[in-house]
Amino acid sequence: MKTTGYLILGAGPSGLTYGRRLMDKGITDFIILEKEESAGGLCRSQEVDGKPLDIGGGHFLDVRRPKVCDFVFRFLPQDQWNIFDRDSRIRVDGCEVSHPLEASIWQFPEKIQDRYLNSIKKAGCNTGAPMPTHFKDWIRWKLGDEIADNYMIPYNSKMFADSLDELGTYWLEKLPNVSFEETLQSVKEHRSLGTQPGHARFYYPKDYGYGEPFLRMADSMQHNIVYNAPVKELSLKDRTVTTMSGEKYQAQKIITTIPWDSMMVTDASSEVKEAITKLKHSSVEIRYVNEDPGSKAHWIYVPSLEVPYHRILCRCNFCLGSRGYWVETVKSRAEAYKASKWIKNFAYMNDYAYPLNTIDKREAIALILKEAASFNVIGLGRWGEHEHYNSDVVIEKAMELADNE
Ligand SMILES: Cc1cc2nc3c(=O)[nH]c(=O)nc-3n(C[C@H](O)[C@H](O)[C@H](O)COP(=O)(O)OP(=O)(O)OC[C@H]3O[C@@H](n4cnc5c(N)ncnc54)[C@H](O)[C@@H]3O)c2cc1C
Repeated sequence: MKTTGYLILGAGPSGLTYGRRLMDKGITDFIILEKEESAGGLCRSQEVDGKPLDIGGGHFLDVRRPKVCDFVFRFLPQDQWNIFDRDSRIRVDGCEVSHPLEASIWQFPEKIQDRYLNSIKKAGCNTGAPMPTHFKDWIRWKLGDEIADNYMIPYNSKMFADSLDELGTYWLEKLPNVSFEETLQSVKEHRSLGTQPGHARFYYPKDYGYGEPFLRMADSMQHNIVYNAPVKELSLKDRTVTTMSGEKYQAQKIITTIPWDSMMVTDASSEVKEAITKLKHSSVEIRYVNEDPGSKAHWIYVPSLEVPYHRILCRCNFCLGSRGYWVETVKSRAEAYKASKWIKNFAYMNDYAYPLNTIDKREAIALILKEAASFNVIGLGRWGEHEHYNSDVVIEKAMELADNE
């Protein structure tokens, strides 16, 4: 049994940042266990067709958290990143319009504009109807039938593996909030009003993929990280962890950034064991295509049910000097490629990609985190907290948590 002060499960952005901040404080008594042979988690990159490709899907560093950016720039200096104004689009009604759709209706031909405007006017939130509690009803209530039927419902059912009926609405404040008046004004003035919910401006490395700063962060702690060490079991009461190969670790504090259902929590209460089974996620395949995407956008949302993928990442438009694009497809739909010419292209499956905001998730994760914390086992990050967090958010949280040690 190896003993340590801090045991960190997972070497993605959360685990790496937590470890690095401990080290910054002079604390070196920690071990990071990682199941893969390299660090970075969903933010990893790999060279494909001569340039980096982000195997966890399209990743960009939001400019909105300067402290986080400064921390990341310690490992890949700021002058080694390009900065972009977001150009993301939606393929809908035979057109390619900017995101968010409700702010871009003016980009459609006039006939289509009228359809969308009338539908938004009749949306429940504009007529005073009570707010529904189920996802599909909420989307109709908020944005009207046209946006719901042509974009939001098909897009989200593709992205969340058809489990829309299980989703709650508590997370939807993340969506852009554009009123009917703003929509009308934007159509009259032929310009987008309202704000982008995130990544309005973002950084992407000039010569590397998004994974590079995390590889360098990991290198700066190389003696503290054990690779190829998938965690099998966690005991809360003893604060011990057993890996698949039978290695045992014991710590004064455990920070877990790995999915709760990827290990056995042997001595959790029956309520917590049941809560863990309620945490759902979707898996996403990344597949590279060595063709011109035919768009200047950085990425494109694709709601059409006729193609399996939900998003196209136009690598050549943000990873300068590269060519091609990649598509993101949930696991259940990725099968459709079997009949396609693309099957021969590079592909990578991320088993844990999106934590699903199911109706009972909030209560489930709150219960798990509370019981674990009472034994000094802390859940952190996208999987430790089972939240749809971006990397800048998990880095900020990990910095705060470690700084309070
Ligand atoms: C398609 C997609 C697009 C995204 N786009 C953006 C974006 O543009 N910008 C942005 O900032 N963020 C984006 N994100 C979110 C970003 O990926 C996450 O916020 C970030 O990776 C979370 O870091 P983490 O360390 O919490 O989790 P992860 O990155 O998932 O890291 C968890 C680590 O734990 C390891 N692990 C898992 N199970 C075990 C086990 N049993 N034993 C040991 N180790 C284990 C994993 O291998 C991994 O290294 C996107 C995510 C997806 C899926």
